[in-house]
Amino acid sequence: MTAEQPKLSARELELLRETIRLSEESKARGRHPFAALVADEQGNIVSQAGNNSMPPEGDPTQHAELVAAALAARTLSPEALAHCTLYTSAEPCCMCAGAVYWTGIGRVVYALSEHTLLGLTGDHPENPTFSLPCREVFARGQRRVEVVGPLIEDEAAAPHRGFWQS
Ligand SMILES: [Zn+2]
Repeated sequence: MTAEQPKLSARELELLRETIRLSEESKARGRHPFAALVADEQGNIVSQAGNNSMPPEGDPTQHAELVAAALAARTLSPEALAHCTLYTSAEPCCMCAGAVYWTGIGRVVYALSEHTLLGLTGDHPENPTFSLPCREVFARGQRRVEVVGPLIEDEAAAPHRGFWQS
C-alpha cells in the first residue's frame, strides 16, 4: 500500500462510495460494474456515468470515467475543471487517464487499483485490463494531475466478485 495517502473528507469518501453504488447499478443494467463521477471543490456532483462499453447501445470507448469527464467538460470552463475531482470505483485505464488529462480535471480519487482489478478480471475478453497505473500516464503529461488511491478496495471489489468468471 502507498505510504502518504491523503485523508479524504467525509463528503469525498461519500462520493467515492457513490461510484461503487453506481457500479452496482451498471451491473444491474447488464453493463460492466464500473462507474465514475465528477464533483467540484464543494462536493457537488457535476456529472456521473456508468459503464456503457457493450454494443449496440454503447461502444468499447464508453468507459464510465471517459463519459463522466466528457460530460463535465461540456458544462464547465477549463478553470473550473482544474478544481474538480473525478471519483471512480476503479483506477482509470490509460484511455480514461487521457480523458482526465485532456479535459483538464485536476484530481483523481479511485477505489480499486488497476492491479487489483487485473487480478479480478484476468484476461477476460470483454475487459483485458491494462497493467498500467494512471500515475504513470499522468507522469508523462505537461500538466499535474493529483491522484489519490487505492482506497476501500474491499468495498469496490464486491461488484466484481464472480462477475468475470461467468
Ligand atoms: Zn477506461
